[in-house]
Amino acid sequence: MRILVSNDDGIDAPGIKVLERVARGLSDDVWVVAPETQQSAASHSLTLHRPLRIRRISKRRHAVNGTPTDCVFLAFNKILADGRPDLVLSGVNDGPNVGEDVTYSGTIAAAMEATLFGVPAVALSQAYGDGRRHHWATAEQWGARLLRTLIERGWPERVLINVNFPDVVAADVRGIRVVRQGLHALDDTLEERVDPRGGPYYWIGAPLAASVSGQRGTDMEAVAEGYVAVTPLHMDLTHRRTLTWLREAIE
Ligand code: MN
Repeated sequence: MRILVSNDDGIDAPGIKVLERVARGLSDDVWVVAPETQQSAASHSLTLHRPLRIRRISKRRHAVNGTPTDCVFLAFNKILADGRPDLVLSGVNDGPNVGEDVTYSGTIAAAMEATLFGVPAVALSQAYGDGRRHHWATAEQWGARLLRTLIERGWPERVLINVNFPDVVAADVRGIRVVRQGLHALDDTLEERVDPRGGPYYWIGAPLAASVSGQRGTDMEAVAEGYVAVTPLHMDLTHRRTLTWLREAIE
C-alpha cells in the first residue's frame, strides 16, 4: 500500500512527523509532500497565479511552496504520477478541526483533494488545551489503531474521514465515537493595532475554545469529553431538505 502524507502546518511541523511514523507502521511505501510554510486556514485553495516549486528533500520527502491542495495535486500529477497512492493521510494538525473549522482547514482540504481524485483520505487533528502542551502520543497511539480498522473496513468513495484526538494523555482517552460535524457559536477575536508609522492593522485571532452546549452527538462534544471523534464528510454541500422545499417554492 502506497501512502501519501501531507498537512497544513508545514513540512517541519511536529504533527507530520507523528503521522509519518503512524504511516510507516502501516506500509513501507510512505511519501511525504507538504507545504514549505504554515498553511493553516488555507482551506481548499489552489495556487493558479504564481509558479509552484517542488523541493526534493529525499527520495520520498518533498516540500512545495504552496497550499495543502497544491501538495496533493503535485503529488498525484507529478511526484507520484506513475503510481498514485492508495491512501492519503493529512495532519496530524496542531489543534482540532471540529465544527465549521473543517471549512477553513487546510488539513481537511488535503484530504478533500485526494477524495476528489478518488483516493481514500483521512484528516487527523490533535486538540490542545490552554497550556498548549500537545499530547502527540495520543494521536500516534490511537491513530495507528483507528487507521488499521478504517483500512480494513473501508468507506464509500467521495467520502473523507475526519479524526480529532482529545487533549488528554493516551491512557485517559475514553474511546472512539463516530459523530456528526457540530457548529461553533462563532466568537472570533479581531485585534486592531497600530504600526510604527501610525497606520492601523488587523489580526484575526484564533477562535476561542467554543462552548459545546447544544452540541450533543457532535465532534466538538466527543473531543471535549475525552473521546476520539470520527466524522465522515462528503464533498456534496447540497442541503437536501432545503432543496425539496425550494423546488416546490420556486420551480
Ligand atoms: Mn494547521
